[in-house]
Amino acid sequence: MKIACIRAYQVDLPLIEGSYNWSGGKSVSVFDSTIVAVETDDGTVGFGEVCPLGPAYLPAFSAGVRTGLREIGPSLIGCDPRELGALNLRMDSVLRGHPYVKSGIDIACWDLLGKTSGLPVCTLMGGRHGDAVRLYRAISQQSADEMAAKITRYRDEGYTRFQLKVGGDPDTDIERIHAARDILPASHRLIADANTGWTQHEAMRVVRATKNLDVYIEQPCETYEECLAIRRGTDHPFVLDENIDSLGMLLRAKSDLAMDVVNLKISKLGGLTKAKQARDLCVAMGIAMTLEDSWGGDIATAAIAHFAHSTPEAFRFTSTDFNSYVTVCTADGAPQRMSGWMKASDRPGLGIQPRMDVLGDPLLEIR
Ligand SMILES: [Mg+2]
Repeated sequence: MKIACIRAYQVDLPLIEGSYNWSGGKSVSVFDSTIVAVETDDGTVGFGEVCPLGPAYLPAFSAGVRTGLREIGPSLIGCDPRELGALNLRMDSVLRGHPYVKSGIDIACWDLLGKTSGLPVCTLMGGRHGDAVRLYRAISQQSADEMAAKITRYRDEGYTRFQLKVGGDPDTDIERIHAARDILPASHRLIADANTGWTQHEAMRVVRATKNLDVYIEQPCETYEECLAIRRGTDHPFVLDENIDSLGMLLRAKSDLAMDVVNLKISKLGGLTKAKQARDLCVAMGIAMTLEDSWGGDIATAAIAHFAHSTPEAFRFTSTDFNSYVTVCTADGAPQRMSGWMKASDRPGLGIQPRMDVLGDPLLEIR
């Protein structure tokens, strides 16, 4: 089996809430997603999706996905899509870095591996653990009262974990964290994710002012060293995200005891193959994970569901159903949230069928 053709489609994903706002005044109202199709010489097609959280979150941007695909695509024609280790070596040998560019191809090849073997991706990634995957809801940055009202609404829909977008003015963020914790029962988890937005002294003020609350602190500052300083100055459970973009950083953070939970995003690491390496290492080292991606629609959500569902339950902190944040459906068969949980499909591959009328004509085709 050989890769005969690679196509990329561009889809706009408007947000149900109108916009998504996080640290430093950053905001997105319509996500620009790239859906990648990898077709083999026997006509089987696998699909993947890459959707950066705008151009200013990670070192990734939507047009970069397409430009990168034009760069690496021709070198992949003729490769066996089922040989994922060899395929990833090939991608890394023709383009240094740029993991997010490679993520859509890698996911599409896992989908192909599943379709040709007749097995769901989660079975191929280690096996299904438990009945369903627990989700968190990200609460876009607004006033403390508005954020608390959103939490109430999503709690009523069944979510039990909430990620509060903070990383703004520290006094306002302290209010936001108190307002959110006040309305949640003790069994519900609250994560204050600053997305690198606080300077070190601001972060220290926030953790001191919330000292008696049950709240997790995620990626308070921009650099790893600043985060480590905050980690050593608080007993709040601590999550690292933006800084952990490689196995090397994961090992360093474990060695420094720099986190209790790590956020693994499929495209940040370069696809399901590399996300699985990091996931398996976390399981071996005893670190729980948020298993997700930077954003996306139905296909990204399906990939997250297989990635998370094949992770032992004790190490699954949360995951995300991105397809419930956007107004456009790009594929049938994607996981649908059931009261704060979702399941990976039982069907072969990712278990999704893209809506080709929504995808439209491909922006690029490489043969
Ligand atoms: Mg985060």
